[in-house]
Amino acid sequence: MHCEVVKKPRDGVINPIFTCQPCGAQYASIGVKDCIGIVHGGQGCVMFVRLLFSQHLKESFELASSSVHEEGAVFGACGRVEQAVEVLLMRYPHVKLIPIISTCSTEVIGDDIEGVCTKLREGLLREKYADREVHLIPIHTPSFVGSMISGYDLAVREFISYFAKKDQPNGKLNLFTGWVNPGDVTALKHLLAEMDIDATVFFEIESFDSPLMPHGNHVSHGSTTIDDLVGSANALGSIALNRYEGAKAAQYLESEYDVPAIIGPTPIGIRNTDTFLQNLKTMTGKPIPESLVRERGVAIDALTDLTHMFFAEKRVAIYGNPDLVISLAEFCLDLEMKPVLLLLGDDNTGYVKDPRVLALQEHVDHDMEIVTNADFWEMERRIKEDGLKLDLILGHSKGRFTSIDYNIPMVRVGFPVYDRAGFYRHPVVGYAGAIWLAEQMANTLFADMEYKRNKEWILNMW
Ligand code: SF4
Repeated sequence: MHCEVVKKPRDGVINPIFTCQPCGAQYASIGVKDCIGIVHGGQGCVMFVRLLFSQHLKESFELASSSVHEEGAVFGACGRVEQAVEVLLMRYPHVKLIPIISTCSTEVIGDDIEGVCTKLREGLLREKYADREVHLIPIHTPSFVGSMISGYDLAVREFISYFAKKDQPNGKLNLFTGWVNPGDVTALKHLLAEMDIDATVFFEIESFDSPLMPHGNHVSHGSTTIDDLVGSANALGSIALNRYEGAKAAQYLESEYDVPAIIGPTPIGIRNTDTFLQNLKTMTGKPIPESLVRERGVAIDALTDLTHMFFAEKRVAIYGNPDLVISLAEFCLDLEMKPVLLLLGDDNTGYVKDPRVLALQEHVDHDMEIVTNADFWEMERRIKEDGLKLDLILGHSKGRFTSIDYNIPMVRVGFPVYDRAGFYRHPVVGYAGAIWLAEQMANTLFADMEYKRNKEWILNMW
């Protein structure tokens, strides 16, 4: 019995689990108020990403493209950025912050986006917008390295390093949520409120579960303000929930401004949520209130009803964002399940040294495989050719065809989820998230038992 970490044996990718770096930078940028990102590249680098966001969140929002065409690709396309900034400022009087997000094509042709920003600051902004607060932030996200995960991490650090400024301590906590859903933000804010902690939630997208109001608003915006970004240097500490999505910014604040940082764990499942609350207590000195002890108890009661009877020994494959995958695996182990295959889908060589991966390798008492730089073909090949038996798949909607083709029940979790209704609204973090996840898994298994007439009578006696 052992847990092996292997690298996908091919260079090519067949059915990728992630999309590219600029996507992650765009997800971070939609979490900032008065901000519209310009993606410097072909229109598709925005269009398909924006479509994914819209499909996932079922909302509309703004992202712009410098719309590079053949001429720019050959002779350089910095002029397209200049035009894009000018048009954006003219059409959107509220915009104060414009990240210029590079792509594979504009990195290959070597467009100097720092130079364009300097030129615009000294030219257009001085001449036409001297009375308006406008910030241009170059963000380099070539898509031939990393993935949407590293793109998000990088962009969060760039926003913070651009704005953070030392001043008087503000007594607040920086919370870097990582790539989460609006429902997760609501759940995290609830935990902070119960502990009476004043925190700034960074790249805050709770409002992407937005109401349709009588005046007909139809565009969603993030809630992190420029003041929040500036004040990050004056916080009493930072907690980054994810090691690969937001930790770089917390580490930057620690090294540059002595703001102490705690990285992880992603508060998925009971033990990780317990650790998160302990970390909040350590950092702020605030006690964990009885109300959260009760919430924990309700969650444990809900899980106990399901664990031994329905989850024990169930073989699970998990793919998606690395922090999510690892913490879901930990949660499954706590539920007596057997996560047998974890797919971590980009070229980050650090996964093999991740302490949580090392802990899995040390403690797992069944055969388990962790594939780095993985794609969906790695999962499918194991099912088709190696006879890998799975009872459940956990992951985002891009893997739905493996579930359909091989008749394996699947619970949608992560990004993007577009083939199930309302998933962005439900948290997977905190005690509420543990209940939601466990009940989703149980109900999916129950439906499968009925559909396959596999001991479905048990459900009469439960
Ligand atoms: S891979 Fe390159 S061309 Fe394709 S969306 Fe990403 S940045 Fe744009």
